[in-house]
Amino acid sequence: MLGAIITLVFIAAVLFLAYRRLPLLAFTATFTVLLAAYSALGLLGSHSTPLLVWKGFLWVLLAGLWLLNVRPLRKAFITRPFMRAYLKLLPSMSQTEREALEAGTVWWDGELFTGAPKWSKLLSAKPPRLSSEEQAFIDGPCEELCRMLDDWHITHERGDMPPHVWEYLKSMGFFAMIIPKKYGGLEFSAYAHSCVLAKIASRSATASSTVAVPNSLGPAELLNHYGTPEQKDYYLPRLARGEEIPCFALTSPRAGSDAASIPDTGIVCRGTWQGREVIGLKLNFSKRYITLAPIATVVGLAFRMFDPDKLLGDKIDIGITCALIPRNTPGLTIGRRHFPINIPFQNGPIQGKDVFVPLDVIIGGAKMAGAGWRMLVEQLSVGRCISLPSNATGGAKAASWATGAYSRIRRQFNMPVGRFEGVETVIARMVGLTYTMDAARSVTAGAIDGGEKPSVPSAMLKYHVTEMGRQVANDAMDVHGGKGICIGPRNYLARGYEAVPIAITVEGANLLTRSLIIFGQGAVRCHPFVLREMTAARNPDRTKGVDDFDRALFGHIGFTISNAVRSLIMSLTHARFTSAPVQGSTSRYYQHIVRFSSSFAFAVDVAMLTLGGYLKKKENLSSRLGDVLSCMYLASMVLKHHENQGAPAEDLPIVEWACRNLLYHAQEQMHGFLRNFPNRFLAGVMRALIFTRGRQYSAPGDRLGRTVAQLVTNPTDARERLCQYIYWTLEPSNPLGLLQEALILAEAAEPIEKRIRVEGVKTGRITALDLPGQIQQALAAGIISDTEAAALRDYDRKCMQLIHVDDFDQHELGTLAAPEPQSRSSAHVA
Ligand SMILES: Cc1cc2nc3c(=O)[nH]c(=O)nc-3n(C[C@H](O)[C@H](O)[C@H](O)COP(=O)(O)OP(=O)(O)OC[C@H]3O[C@@H](n4cnc5c(N)ncnc54)[C@H](O)[C@@H]3O)c2cc1C
Repeated sequence: MLGAIITLVFIAAVLFLAYRRLPLLAFTATFTVLLAAYSALGLLGSHSTPLLVWKGFLWVLLAGLWLLNVRPLRKAFITRPFMRAYLKLLPSMSQTEREALEAGTVWWDGELFTGAPKWSKLLSAKPPRLSSEEQAFIDGPCEELCRMLDDWHITHERGDMPPHVWEYLKSMGFFAMIIPKKYGGLEFSAYAHSCVLAKIASRSATASSTVAVPNSLGPAELLNHYGTPEQKDYYLPRLARGEEIPCFALTSPRAGSDAASIPDTGIVCRGTWQGREVIGLKLNFSKRYITLAPIATVVGLAFRMFDPDKLLGDKIDIGITCALIPRNTPGLTIGRRHFPINIPFQNGPIQGKDVFVPLDVIIGGAKMAGAGWRMLVEQLSVGRCISLPSNATGGAKAASWATGAYSRIRRQFNMPVGRFEGVETVIARMVGLTYTMDAARSVTAGAIDGGEKPSVPSAMLKYHVTEMGRQVANDAMDVHGGKGICIGPRNYLARGYEAVPIAITVEGANLLTRSLIIFGQGAVRCHPFVLREMTAARNPDRTKGVDDFDRALFGHIGFTISNAVRSLIMSLTHARFTSAPVQGSTSRYYQHIVRFSSSFAFAVDVAMLTLGGYLKKKENLSSRLGDVLSCMYLASMVLKHHENQGAPAEDLPIVEWACRNLLYHAQEQMHGFLRNFPNRFLAGVMRALIFTRGRQYSAPGDRLGRTVAQLVTNPTDARERLCQYIYWTLEPSNPLGLLQEALILAEAAEPIEKRIRVEGVKTGRITALDLPGQIQQALAAGIISDTEAAALRDYDRKCMQLIHVDDFDQHELGTLAAPEPQSRSSAHVA
């Protein structure tokens, strides 16, 4: 018995060493001491066969460990042969792919790949804050813009924003948020930029899409980073003043998601430019879906550049290049419009036939010829974190704000619909997702302001925040019932709902982003060893290559073993003894993220080791791993956001809902990965180490859902924090303000209504079926006072104004003249 206990203590001590991730030499030395102590206790002196085998195994293991510490030996017998085999397996990588992989920085995403994230790195980051100038812009011009926007007029009657709105956008610098002040721009922080977009999106998807584009990946951003001094001095002030309207044209009919394969060409040749013969480019291209194209004055163009006559050097295929082409350049055709799903922001095709331009239209000048793809992917890592996530978050905030209030004032079965369990569950999901979206948007924007260019998080935000936006939009529609469906000036939901697929599709369509980018880029970029191994293996200096590869390989092996052990221990203990950076009710979520991080890192290594480059083709497996990574990332953002907001206790149910939802999803995606892993033996081993006690994590419960829903169906501080930076000013044309007013009135009206029901309707003293009649009779019966009757009438009138929907004459809806009555009825019969 004593022997068994000591053996268990010995094994636990060795596992603990692996858990703490000791370097190889330190591990070997400590293992030697432990084994010596174990032997000294005489327990290995027994002559029973199993113990002899066990003893032999341990001593052989120790000898092996010491040999592994002799670097020349292990390099000769392990590293070199392994590296040779590795090089054969390593998929070839184009320059374009390499540039995409190396773009941006590795931030918190890298920590999640380690299996032991250092929380101080996240928690010590300064919370994002608006400067007084930025705050004044949001409270001033941004508020005024929202007041000016009449979305029904824009989307249905005009099919565009009216001229005074365009003028206001240009003159107040809405298109110049990323342009430095020295060029006349606003030079806002990423966080302020994101808050402006979120606020506009709470009012009009057309306006927020329009504002997002010049501030995202496009001419201003590219000029800012790569432009020549002449290009910057000419274009940036003009863009800042709104004298130039930019668009950026990459997508073509044949190349959508696979944008690097654009067939549009720029051939280096001689030609005449402003009366002089110069070396320039003859451009032929056909682009579509280009936002702002119909009204653009300058077109950012991506094309493939060739120099068949070698006028510039030896290279014929120079590669993807970005240039700025003025609208009036001969051969350029723009002006017609696409109609993106009833959200009429300016968008359309562009064609160019034998457009001749000088080389200095290339952004950055001729020296940047061929560098276009790198420029695009580098800048995408910032822009993709801001535009679509902010717009989607603004829309989700508006939907949650409206739904919380509407579900309180809309009564069925004598109850606000928001009090029914089935509806509460949906509202809780809206709130939890909106909080998650807001956390991801604001914390990541803060990281950008701290100097990060987080490329993998940008893909995670693009995918998950817009997908969550889709869920929130669906939920809002469900809770509003017919009110959400009948469009017209009174409908504040439908256009946002219609806009969802736009966010899903642009800047990397979501299916592709989930299937190829999040994990595909993350696995190479964020993994602590993979990129080092790849670089070392490809190093033309063989000696240095082997040396670097050796360090990376043995670091990697120790890392994988440690993560396997950590998974097992945290699975057995449910991560209860894992250290957390904060005390209190959120500490368990930190522990669970660490646990999932270890399991994820272990599963990633097993998948990469056994499937290699084939993992890229197994999109469902890599998508699921990407989901686990994203859920951990988003849950970390939720926790950091809560801290950034001063950890208000009132928000804890929302934080719990969001973390539970994400971690449950992480667990289920890991389960899906294991179920579908092709090597069933290894799948079993991974499952034993990752889910030793089964899948124990549960999704948010009903009681929690009710508590969360009540935070937005009542006028609470949590509701205002959740929906900060949306346009909810009280004024006649703003449903979000009117809904808030009605919600506040509901607090006083409901007890009066209850008295009428209990003392009047149930006792038979009141016979009227509708509320106005009941108020009349209750007043006459002395159940309520004059003041109460007036308050209730006012409340009822305001509620009914919000509940009403629009109706139209036939001629108001069709774009053609109304058909003859006879032909209409015959069409109906047919
Ligand atoms: C309203 C709007 C505005 C836009 N604005 C601009 C702009 O200003 N400038 C510009 O250059 N472009 C713009 N785009 C283009 C946009 O970036 C593309 O639509 C997008 O890249 C997807 O291309 P596609 O629509 O051709 O889809 P496709 O490439 O045809 O893809 C179809 C589907 O297949 C999926 N898919 C493709 N490959 C894979 C894969 N390997 N694994 C899994 N799924 C995959 C995609 O995710 C998508 O769901 C805009 C598009 C729209 C609709």
